[in-house]
Amino acid sequence: MPHTSPAQIGYLAGILDGEGYISLKPSRGGSGMIIRVGVNMTDLDVLERCQEIAGAGVIAGPRIRGTNKPIWIWNINHQRDAVAVLMTVYPLVGARRKRRIEEALAAWKAKPQRKKPEPWGIAGNNGCGTYAGWATHHRRGSPICAACRDAANEYRRARRKRPAR
Ligand SMILES: [Zn+2]
Repeated sequence: MPHTSPAQIGYLAGILDGEGYISLKPSRGGSGMIIRVGVNMTDLDVLERCQEIAGAGVIAGPRIRGTNKPIWIWNINHQRDAVAVLMTVYPLVGARRKRRIEEALAAWKAKPQRKKPEPWGIAGNNGCGTYAGWATHHRRGSPICAACRDAANEYRRARRKRPAR
């Protein structure tokens, strides 16, 4: 949530506290819980403002039931966005919501996080630029960085050049 003012965060926290939902549901495959954060209401402009402040989520709708006013749904599906929003509004919401947020964040932390491949280089390891570095990328399924690709090419070239006995 970059470039947000305290007033904007206060606005978002107020809407989430008053009208929002924070819930947990088991993830498909059962490897943990998924945080659901959103707001259902008839005022589309309020949801658009929330979406803009949070820089996250999608608005769905209108959902029409009988003669009631159409309802719009702002929902933050991306877990990282949901966590960022919950952490940001936490100090500003009431005790009941605070407990929900604590539950949600605890469940999120308990979930085994899938390790992202390093976009460049080998995290916590200075092995890049060697054949071993190339092999490490390969083993982890991470993109092979330029230094390691060069090292691997050099290694293969050297092997090819080795004179036969
Ligand atoms: Zn590398």
